Amino acid sequence: MDKAERLRPQFEALVGAAHVWGREEDLSHYNNDNRGLYFGDAALIVRPGSTEEVSRVLALAYENDIAVVPQSGHTGHSAGGVPAKGQIVVTTERLTQVRNIDPDNNALAVDAGVILENIHALAAAQDRLYPVSLAAKGSCRIGGNVATNAGGTGVLAYGNTRDNVLGLEVVLPDGRIWDGMRALRKDNTGYDLKHLFIGSEGTLGLITGVVLKLVPKPKGREVAFVGLRDPAQALALLLHLKGQLGSELTAFEIMPRTPIDFTLAYQASLRDPFPEPYPWYALVEISSGLSSDAARENAEQRLAAALESEIALDVALAQSEAQRQDFWAIRETMPPAQKPQGWSIKHDIALPVHRVPEFFQRADDIVAQALPGARICGFGHMGDGNIHYNITQPEGAPKALFEPKRQEINAKIHTLVSDMQGSVSAEHGIGLAKKALLAETKSPVELAMMQAVKQALDPKGLMNPGKIFD
Ligand code: ZN
Repeated sequence: MDKAERLRPQFEALVGAAHVWGREEDLSHYNNDNRGLYFGDAALIVRPGSTEEVSRVLALAYENDIAVVPQSGHTGHSAGGVPAKGQIVVTTERLTQVRNIDPDNNALAVDAGVILENIHALAAAQDRLYPVSLAAKGSCRIGGNVATNAGGTGVLAYGNTRDNVLGLEVVLPDGRIWDGMRALRKDNTGYDLKHLFIGSEGTLGLITGVVLKLVPKPKGREVAFVGLRDPAQALALLLHLKGQLGSELTAFEIMPRTPIDFTLAYQASLRDPFPEPYPWYALVEISSGLSSDAARENAEQRLAAALESEIALDVALAQSEAQRQDFWAIRETMPPAQKPQGWSIKHDIALPVHRVPEFFQRADDIVAQALPGARICGFGHMGDGNIHYNITQPEGAPKALFEPKRQEINAKIHTLVSDMQGSVSAEHGIGLAKKALLAETKSPVELAMMQAVKQALDPKGLMNPGKIFD
């Protein structure tokens, strides 16, 4: 029996017996990562119902040297929430209270376990927008978004999660509560501690409350698919639209034909945006704070100009809200649509935006040499230089052929990214999956500073140990 299991009655006394689960339950949701690559073995799952309960749970774990793995929606892509044997998972899933919504100050204070989609709805009810959005919005929780500094499709105009957090409440490893739930735009009083916890992946403390920045809800929003020849043309289109529209260009996603084929095969209700296929596509969103007419006029004019100056082959502007949602659904269905096509190798990389076309050229060459016939699904947030360079196995190839190629291709792509002054993790974080890469790509000075922060806030090394670094 693990030490944590022996202490089960004490954890039960803190949060209620119904909210502590052990190995006799089905813990697979908490133990395993969602790609099926990592499998954990938690001693207990503890589900506190308030910040005070989190504080007592962490204090008890601290006194007894039990490692704690914070979890939120557990939808991450880097296995940052996978527990090792004997560790306990402390989940925020019962922390779902809305604490305060203040439309005049454009601020929303919530518990860390509120689901992202519910935050979108809360903001919309006040004619506001919380602009961070990602494919997992229906199941990811805001505390996890903050802990991983989630990105997604709204980064181009509004920034990452980091840019949209005003304040935090965090329970430290020893159980002390830091109340940093401030809703200020300016607060220049020494170290800005919230930024240490944003993107720390649960290695410094457990986030229990968040104050989010809201923005006025755009009055009009247009969504278009644009047919393109290649990524170089996509870059020309991006620069054209960005130059004309500034922050009214609210999304710019690119994708080649292959993942569109996968998506259309996976979800029968979705339609090809054009009668004929194109080699590449951009999904473009244009918003206006003035009116829906202004958004429409802007979209029509800018995209017509793009056709005229031959930086687009074809344009399909969505004609209704239903079609706007369908266009977005084509993009957002790409990750699950890859699954039935077989094994895949995935990358979440960032590059200087103007070098994205060069990256595709060089990366595609690497894959063509290493694994002929592999189907490349390199799609993503071109507007901010973040590409999910995913590779699906050659049709019908046995797993035995594909599996050994994973490491070789990963290594070559990540070397290419480093050579091009990019980042090996744009928005998915480090977790377990990219720990070795972090050690390879950061300078000793940078690693030493990160470890000094960890040592200062978690001297016993009990918060999510083994994630980001050892
Ligand atoms: Zn993404």
